[in-house]
Amino acid sequence: AVAVRDIHLAFGSNRVLRGVDLDVPAASTACVIGPSGSGKSTLLRVVNRLIEPERGDVLLDGRSVLADNPDALRQRVGMVFQHFNLFPHKSVRGNITLGLTRLKGLRKDEAAELALHHLDRVGLAHKADVRPGNLSGGQQQRVAIARALAMEPEVMLFDEATSALDPELVKGVLATMADLAAEGMTMIVVTHEMGFARSVAEQVLFMDHGQVIEAGHPDQVFDAPRTERLRRFLSQVL
Ligand code: ATP
Ligand code: MG
Repeated sequence: AVAVRDIHLAFGSNRVLRGVDLDVPAASTACVIGPSGSGKSTLLRVVNRLIEPERGDVLLDGRSVLADNPDALRQRVGMVFQHFNLFPHKSVRGNITLGLTRLKGLRKDEAAELALHHLDRVGLAHKADVRPGNLSGGQQQRVAIARALAMEPEVMLFDEATSALDPELVKGVLATMADLAAEGMTMIVVTHEMGFARSVAEQVLFMDHGQVIEAGHPDQVFDAPRTERLRRFLSQVL
Protein backbone atom coordinates (compact mmCIF):
# COMPACT_ATOMS: atom_id res chain seq x y z
CA ALA A 1 0.00 0.00 0.00
CA VAL A 2 1.10 3.58 -0.68
CA ALA A 3 -0.14 6.62 1.18
CA VAL A 4 0.60 10.29 0.82
CA ARG A 5 -0.27 12.60 3.72
CA ASP A 6 -0.80 16.33 3.41
CA ILE A 7 2.02 16.95 0.93
CA HIS A 8 3.01 20.58 0.36
CA LEU A 9 5.60 21.72 -2.13
CA ALA A 10 6.43 25.01 -3.85
CA PHE A 11 8.81 26.05 -6.61
CA GLY A 12 9.61 29.58 -5.52
CA SER A 13 6.30 31.34 -5.15
CA ASN A 14 4.51 28.68 -7.23
CA ARG A 15 2.67 26.46 -4.74
CA VAL A 16 2.49 23.29 -6.78
CA LEU A 17 1.19 20.82 -4.19
CA ARG A 18 -1.14 22.19 -1.55
CA GLY A 19 -2.10 19.48 0.89
CA VAL A 20 -2.36 16.33 -1.20
CA ASP A 21 -3.61 13.09 0.35
CA LEU A 22 -3.66 9.75 -1.40
CA ASP A 23 -4.34 6.18 -0.31
CA VAL A 24 -3.63 3.31 -2.65
CA PRO A 25 -4.32 -0.08 -1.06
CA ALA A 26 -2.04 -2.98 -2.00
CA ALA A 27 -2.84 -4.59 -5.36
CA SER A 28 -5.01 -1.68 -6.49
CA THR A 29 -4.64 1.00 -9.14
CA ALA A 30 -5.24 4.70 -8.67
CA CYS A 31 -5.43 6.94 -11.74
CA VAL A 32 -4.62 10.63 -11.41
CA ILE A 33 -6.21 12.98 -13.93
CA GLY A 34 -6.25 16.74 -14.20
CA PRO A 35 -5.22 19.70 -16.34
CA SER A 36 -1.68 20.52 -17.38
CA GLY A 37 0.29 22.09 -14.53
CA SER A 38 -2.00 20.76 -11.80
CA GLY A 39 0.89 18.96 -10.08
CA LYS A 40 0.42 15.34 -11.20
CA SER A 41 4.02 14.69 -12.21
CA THR A 42 5.32 16.51 -9.17
CA LEU A 43 3.20 14.28 -6.95
CA LEU A 44 4.69 11.13 -8.50
CA ARG A 45 8.17 12.60 -8.10
CA VAL A 46 7.51 13.12 -4.43
CA VAL A 47 6.37 9.51 -4.02
CA ASN A 48 9.54 8.32 -5.74
CA ARG A 49 11.73 10.75 -3.75
CA LEU A 50 13.01 12.50 -6.87
CA ILE A 51 11.98 15.65 -5.04
CA GLU A 52 11.50 16.39 -1.35
CA PRO A 53 8.23 17.86 -0.09
CA GLU A 54 8.26 20.77 2.32
CA ARG A 55 5.67 19.17 4.48
CA GLY A 56 3.79 15.90 4.66
CA ASP A 57 4.66 12.24 4.54
CA VAL A 58 4.93 9.32 2.15
CA LEU A 59 4.19 5.86 3.55
CA LEU A 60 4.82 2.41 2.13
CA ASP A 61 2.87 -0.27 3.94
CA GLY A 62 2.15 2.20 6.70
CA ARG A 63 5.76 3.17 7.32
CA SER A 64 7.21 6.59 6.49
CA VAL A 65 9.92 6.43 3.84
CA LEU A 66 11.04 10.07 3.85
CA ALA A 67 13.96 9.30 6.16
CA ASP A 68 15.10 6.31 4.09
CA ASN A 69 17.89 6.36 1.55
CA PRO A 70 16.27 7.55 -1.72
CA ASP A 71 18.17 4.96 -3.78
CA ALA A 72 16.88 2.16 -1.58
CA LEU A 73 13.37 3.54 -1.91
CA ARG A 74 13.61 3.71 -5.70
CA GLN A 75 14.17 -0.04 -5.76
CA ARG A 76 10.82 -0.46 -4.03
CA VAL A 77 9.01 2.06 -6.23
CA GLY A 78 9.38 1.70 -10.00
CA MET A 79 8.65 4.59 -12.32
CA VAL A 80 7.88 4.76 -16.01
CA PHE A 81 7.98 8.11 -17.80
CA GLN A 82 6.56 9.51 -21.00
CA HIS A 83 10.01 9.32 -22.61
CA PHE A 84 11.45 5.94 -21.89
CA ASN A 85 15.15 6.91 -21.78
CA LEU A 86 16.57 3.56 -22.82
CA PHE A 87 20.31 3.37 -23.47
CA PRO A 88 20.59 3.36 -27.28
CA HIS A 89 23.92 1.52 -27.48
CA LYS A 90 22.89 -1.36 -25.26
CA SER A 91 20.70 -4.27 -26.25
CA VAL A 92 17.20 -4.51 -24.85
CA ARG A 93 18.47 -7.17 -22.46
CA GLY A 94 21.46 -4.98 -21.54
CA ASN A 95 19.15 -2.12 -20.65
CA ILE A 96 17.48 -4.36 -18.09
CA THR A 97 20.52 -6.17 -16.69
CA LEU A 98 22.34 -2.91 -15.96
CA GLY A 99 20.28 -2.06 -12.88
CA LEU A 100 20.25 -5.68 -11.76
CA THR A 101 24.04 -6.01 -11.70
CA ARG A 102 24.78 -2.48 -10.45
CA LEU A 103 22.00 -1.89 -7.93
CA LYS A 104 20.96 -5.41 -6.94
CA GLY A 105 24.43 -6.96 -7.22
CA LEU A 106 23.27 -9.90 -9.34
CA ARG A 107 25.74 -11.97 -11.36
CA LYS A 108 25.62 -11.35 -15.11
CA ASP A 109 24.03 -14.70 -15.92
CA GLU A 110 21.42 -14.29 -13.17
CA ALA A 111 20.62 -10.80 -14.43
CA ALA A 112 20.32 -12.00 -18.02
CA GLU A 113 17.90 -14.74 -17.02
CA LEU A 114 15.78 -12.38 -14.95
CA ALA A 115 15.76 -9.82 -17.77
CA LEU A 116 14.39 -12.44 -20.12
CA HIS A 117 11.68 -13.38 -17.64
CA HIS A 118 10.49 -9.77 -17.38
CA LEU A 119 10.74 -9.21 -21.13
CA ASP A 120 8.51 -12.23 -21.52
CA ARG A 121 5.96 -10.62 -19.19
CA VAL A 122 5.64 -7.69 -21.59
CA GLY A 123 5.70 -9.94 -24.65
CA LEU A 124 9.17 -8.97 -25.87
CA ALA A 125 11.47 -11.87 -24.98
CA HIS A 126 12.15 -12.32 -28.69
CA LYS A 127 13.61 -8.80 -28.88
CA ALA A 128 16.21 -9.27 -26.14
CA ASP A 129 19.20 -8.94 -28.45
CA VAL A 130 18.19 -5.94 -30.54
CA ARG A 131 18.92 -2.29 -29.82
CA PRO A 132 16.02 -0.10 -28.62
CA GLY A 133 16.25 1.99 -31.82
CA ASN A 134 15.04 -1.02 -33.78
CA LEU A 135 11.81 -1.22 -31.79
CA SER A 136 8.58 0.73 -32.14
CA GLY A 137 7.86 3.38 -29.53
CA GLY A 138 5.30 1.10 -27.93
CA GLN A 139 7.79 -1.75 -27.74
CA GLN A 140 10.40 0.57 -26.26
CA GLN A 141 7.94 1.66 -23.60
CA ARG A 142 7.22 -1.98 -22.78
CA VAL A 143 10.97 -2.53 -22.40
CA ALA A 144 11.03 0.42 -19.99
CA ILE A 145 8.21 -1.25 -18.06
CA ALA A 146 10.12 -4.56 -18.01
CA ARG A 147 13.20 -2.69 -16.79
CA ALA A 148 11.24 -1.24 -13.88
CA LEU A 149 9.60 -4.60 -13.11
CA ALA A 150 12.96 -6.36 -13.04
CA MET A 151 13.82 -4.44 -9.89
CA GLU A 152 10.80 -6.19 -8.33
CA PRO A 153 9.17 -3.02 -7.02
CA GLU A 154 6.26 -3.06 -4.59
CA VAL A 155 4.68 -0.11 -6.37
CA MET A 156 4.73 1.14 -9.95
CA LEU A 157 4.27 4.78 -10.95
CA PHE A 158 3.39 5.71 -14.52
CA ASP A 159 3.62 9.30 -15.72
CA GLU A 160 1.73 9.62 -19.01
CA ALA A 161 3.45 6.49 -20.25
CA THR A 162 1.51 6.51 -23.52
CA SER A 163 1.40 10.26 -24.29
CA ALA A 164 4.42 10.26 -26.59
CA LEU A 165 3.28 7.26 -28.61
CA ASP A 166 1.64 7.12 -32.00
CA PRO A 167 -2.06 6.34 -31.53
CA GLU A 168 -1.82 2.80 -32.93
CA LEU A 169 0.85 1.91 -30.35
CA VAL A 170 -1.01 3.13 -27.28
CA LYS A 171 -3.25 0.09 -26.96
CA GLY A 172 -0.42 -2.41 -26.52
CA VAL A 173 1.18 -0.42 -23.72
CA LEU A 174 -2.16 0.10 -21.96
CA ALA A 175 -2.80 -3.65 -22.25
CA THR A 176 0.56 -4.36 -20.60
CA MET A 177 -0.34 -1.95 -17.79
CA ALA A 178 -3.78 -3.52 -17.39
CA ASP A 179 -2.17 -6.99 -17.17
CA LEU A 180 0.12 -5.72 -14.46
CA ALA A 181 -2.81 -4.35 -12.50
CA ALA A 182 -4.66 -7.66 -12.89
CA GLU A 183 -1.60 -9.51 -11.58
CA GLY A 184 -1.89 -7.52 -8.38
CA MET A 185 0.66 -4.72 -8.78
CA THR A 186 0.00 -1.58 -6.74
CA MET A 187 -0.01 1.30 -9.21
CA ILE A 188 -0.40 5.05 -9.45
CA VAL A 189 -1.07 6.04 -13.04
CA VAL A 190 -1.11 9.62 -14.30
CA THR A 191 -2.96 9.42 -17.60
CA HIS A 192 -5.10 11.13 -20.18
CA GLU A 193 -6.54 7.74 -21.15
CA MET A 194 -9.96 7.98 -19.56
CA GLY A 195 -10.97 4.56 -20.93
CA PHE A 196 -8.07 2.97 -19.08
CA ALA A 197 -8.93 4.84 -15.89
CA ARG A 198 -12.53 3.71 -16.11
CA SER A 199 -11.81 0.06 -16.81
CA VAL A 200 -8.68 -0.56 -14.71
CA ALA A 201 -8.59 1.87 -11.78
CA GLU A 202 -10.24 1.14 -8.44
CA GLN A 203 -9.91 4.84 -7.73
CA VAL A 204 -9.68 8.02 -9.79
CA LEU A 205 -8.32 11.29 -8.40
CA PHE A 206 -8.91 14.62 -10.10
CA MET A 207 -6.22 17.20 -9.35
CA ASP A 208 -6.35 20.91 -10.02
CA HIS A 209 -3.96 23.62 -8.80
CA GLY A 210 -2.06 21.28 -6.50
CA GLN A 211 -5.05 19.78 -4.75
CA VAL A 212 -7.15 16.65 -5.09
CA ILE A 213 -10.53 18.14 -5.90
CA GLU A 214 -12.45 14.87 -6.22
CA ALA A 215 -11.56 11.24 -5.64
CA GLY A 216 -13.62 8.09 -5.87
CA HIS A 217 -14.64 5.09 -7.89
CA PRO A 218 -14.38 5.73 -11.64
CA ASP A 219 -18.16 5.43 -12.09
CA GLN A 220 -18.68 8.19 -9.59
CA VAL A 221 -15.91 10.49 -10.84
CA PHE A 222 -16.82 10.12 -14.52
CA ASP A 223 -20.60 9.79 -14.32
CA ALA A 224 -21.47 11.94 -11.31
CA PRO A 225 -18.82 14.66 -10.90
CA ARG A 226 -19.64 16.85 -7.94
CA THR A 227 -17.70 19.97 -8.84
CA GLU A 228 -17.96 22.38 -11.75
CA ARG A 229 -14.17 22.14 -12.21
CA LEU A 230 -14.27 18.38 -12.83
CA ARG A 231 -17.33 18.70 -15.08
CA ARG A 232 -15.50 21.28 -17.17
CA PHE A 233 -12.34 19.15 -17.32
CA LEU A 234 -14.28 16.05 -18.38
CA SER A 235 -16.17 17.96 -21.06
CA GLN A 236 -12.80 18.90 -22.55
CA VAL A 237 -11.21 15.45 -22.49
CA LEU A 238 -14.07 13.03 -23.09
P1 ATP B 1 1.18 18.04 -17.31
O1 ATP B 1 -0.18 17.45 -17.48
O2 ATP B 1 1.43 19.14 -18.30
O3 ATP B 1 2.28 17.02 -17.31
P2 ATP B 1 1.38 18.19 -14.41
O4 ATP B 1 0.05 18.12 -13.77
O5 ATP B 1 2.21 16.97 -14.45
O6 ATP B 1 1.20 18.79 -15.88
P3 ATP B 1 3.63 19.33 -13.00
O7 ATP B 1 4.66 18.92 -13.99
O8 ATP B 1 3.57 18.58 -11.72
O9 ATP B 1 2.18 19.36 -13.66
O10 ATP B 1 3.87 20.86 -12.71
C1 ATP B 1 3.13 21.57 -11.76
C2 ATP B 1 3.66 22.98 -11.67
O11 ATP B 1 4.97 22.95 -11.17
C3 ATP B 1 3.74 23.72 -12.99
O12 ATP B 1 3.36 25.06 -12.74
C4 ATP B 1 5.19 23.62 -13.37
O13 ATP B 1 5.59 24.71 -14.15
C5 ATP B 1 5.87 23.61 -12.03
N1 ATP B 1 7.14 22.86 -12.01
C6 ATP B 1 7.28 21.54 -12.21
N2 ATP B 1 8.55 21.14 -12.08
C7 ATP B 1 9.26 22.25 -11.79
C8 ATP B 1 10.65 22.52 -11.53
N3 ATP B 1 11.55 21.54 -11.53
N4 ATP B 1 11.00 23.80 -11.27
C9 ATP B 1 10.09 24.79 -11.25
N5 ATP B 1 8.77 24.60 -11.48
C10 ATP B 1 8.35 23.36 -11.75
MG1 MG C 1 3.08 15.86 -15.97
